[in-house]
Amino acid sequence: MSGEHVLICVAWPYANGPLHLGHVAGCYLPPDIHARYERAKGNRVLMVSGSDEHGTPITVTAETLGISPQDVVDKYHATNTQALLDLGCSWEPNIDARGVDYGGSLFNRTSDPEHKKFVQENFKSLLAAGLFEQKTMQQYYEIRENGGRFLPDRYVEGECPNCGEDGARGDQCDECGTTYESHELQNPRSKMNPDADIEIRDTEHFFYRLDRFQSALEQHAAERNTSWKPNVRAMTKQWLDMGLRPRAVTRDLEWGIPLPLEGVEWDGKCVYVWFEAVQGYYSCARLWSQRYSDSEDWKKWWCVSQDGVVPRHLYFLGKDNIPFHTVIWPALIMGLNHANNGLGEGDDVHLPGPGDLALETNVPAMEYLMLAGGQFSKSRKHAVWLPSFLERFDPDTLRYYLSINMPESHDTDFNWPDFVEKINSELNGTYGNYVNRIMSLGNKLGGADSTESDPENPLLVYDQLELCKDAIERLEQIYVQINQSLNRHRYKEALRHVMSAAQYGNQMIQKAAPWEAIKNLNDDTSKTQDSLAKLAFGWRLARFLAITSQPFLPFSAQRLWSMLGQDGQVSEVAYESAIDWTTPMTWSAISEPLFSRLDLDSILEHEESLVSTGQSETHDDPGHGVKGTGKKSKVKEEKKMNKAPEGTAFLDFDTFMSVELRTGTITSVEDHPNADKLYVVKIDDGTDSGRTVCAGLKPYYTIEEMTGKLVVFVANLEPRKLRGIVSEGMICAADDGQGAVKLITIDGVIENGSRVR
Ligand SMILES: [Zn+2]
Repeated sequence: MSGEHVLICVAWPYANGPLHLGHVAGCYLPPDIHARYERAKGNRVLMVSGSDEHGTPITVTAETLGISPQDVVDKYHATNTQALLDLGCSWEPNIDARGVDYGGSLFNRTSDPEHKKFVQENFKSLLAAGLFEQKTMQQYYEIRENGGRFLPDRYVEGECPNCGEDGARGDQCDECGTTYESHELQNPRSKMNPDADIEIRDTEHFFYRLDRFQSALEQHAAERNTSWKPNVRAMTKQWLDMGLRPRAVTRDLEWGIPLPLEGVEWDGKCVYVWFEAVQGYYSCARLWSQRYSDSEDWKKWWCVSQDGVVPRHLYFLGKDNIPFHTVIWPALIMGLNHANNGLGEGDDVHLPGPGDLALETNVPAMEYLMLAGGQFSKSRKHAVWLPSFLERFDPDTLRYYLSINMPESHDTDFNWPDFVEKINSELNGTYGNYVNRIMSLGNKLGGADSTESDPENPLLVYDQLELCKDAIERLEQIYVQINQSLNRHRYKEALRHVMSAAQYGNQMIQKAAPWEAIKNLNDDTSKTQDSLAKLAFGWRLARFLAITSQPFLPFSAQRLWSMLGQDGQVSEVAYESAIDWTTPMTWSAISEPLFSRLDLDSILEHEESLVSTGQSETHDDPGHGVKGTGKKSKVKEEKKMNKAPEGTAFLDFDTFMSVELRTGTITSVEDHPNADKLYVVKIDDGTDSGRTVCAGLKPYYTIEEMTGKLVVFVANLEPRKLRGIVSEGMICAADDGQGAVKLITIDGVIENGSRVR
């Protein structure tokens, strides 16, 4: 499937505030993972999106702040573009590294005059093809001395006809969720100007004839039945079953794209934001072509070829947007085809054929990411904002957490304790730890092996693939699984498979114990050779990890790539190269931790400080914040809420890790002068002074049995006096509860004072 044209369409973020993590998980991270994957597979990807900058929520914000709508969208377009780039979303550079034939990306904005031109052109062709009808509507009108204005629904407030709540909007009540006709609202008034007189007036508008596309859309939905996810099938069916009706495409509002029509009756009207923003997928491809490529190149990504080859169109969006992309947008696309083919009001509409604009191939829509159980909401300010998150954390930690927790088939939850746990124990503990072992063992080998080692890579001389057949087989299996999951848009599952390779690597190294072999390099036994061959293969496995994790973790994959001594960008390496076991081994000798551990307490402290200073409430400086419920932050409550089964009190990982266990050698044992059951034990803990521990082991061990044993002790226990002698720790032993007590000893030799975990 190499070389295919793939158009990746990303839902357009509304430029009325910063992006929060709910948006990222639902709409913005999945398409970037997918685009990176398709590129690594050798396909030609064009990725399009941009800021959705028109509509009344933006004018309401502008009027509230006393600034222009343009100021509002300029600010949030800049903020959101930067945040997406900081997250590693590949909106720049605009041209694929392999060249313009391989596509690229464009993150545009709907206030772009060129976008306006396309929308106005399309409006005129749909009108000429008889796909609009004109109707008279009733709308509230605010009367002013020097000319009044029509009030969009968001500009009208009153009492809900259903529950009586004051402050209900013109067309719906946020309190009880009812929608109604605006004339049903009780005691209506202008939101911005409550004292003004308002009345209902007639106004002329155009409606798109969605009803004409009913049967073509039913046919389209039937064809997609096997590829759409259940939520997409269900919501589309619901809309089609209700029967499609004409939908208004114009409204009375200044802030938007003006109607391309002559006549004073169209003054003060613009096209509806739903009608024009969705056309951004199309205008963006054309503009990308105009600006970066041949002006007709967009057709390769948009049009069915003359011999019937259909480019793949993938739309990434949240579940609230599904019918827009499976019903309304396909109806507009078919309408444009109808018009372009010179057909008119009397002609039937058709599904696309050769030369026509193509319909979507799949709409892998996501469910919601919830914040501590509640829905992320821009308007209610219950959110963790992307820009502030990226100021404090490595973007790959967010990419990892949101991918492994992606709301693919059901809503998932973001909470800080779970975030910290997954980063520390999975990303750092499994992936980071594996890489660290390979790099430090490789360096150790380089230092130990002064005669034989290759100056380029100390592992090279031990590279014996015939001794690693099991590992090769396992990784090739994992590789197939990763691809299967990615092709089915199951990103969470795909990343689990990637992580299983790191897990496998840790087990392989643990079993091979190359640290033993490094000490006996002159030992020519098969055990030593096998052990070092596994360590050398460890480099290949790390390279496998860098390539396969790149779509998910682009920054750390690149760091790992450089540590392995590989040249260039891992994002430009073919995905299949992950299982090329003969690639020449390189080395950088750089051994740095790939990730750093996170500290839950300091994160919670920071969040609490935002809640208490009210920063999380501030809209203009959204900066931060989980909004607390009441005085006590919810995140703190969650920390205590363990998911343990009944009867088990789970310890959180950080508490466990705060216990410092170390190794030491018992150098002397004496009877405690004042206690019958205690020994006074001296331990060489790697420090000059050593330490003294009082241990209740007299009933189980003789002095001779204990002396010289390599044991594990708790090193950070507060010292305390036991019958006159200060005890500086506790020696660990197993107790079966029936009289048997056995010291915990170390398997093999290790430096005194080594950390046990
Ligand atoms: Zn109500």
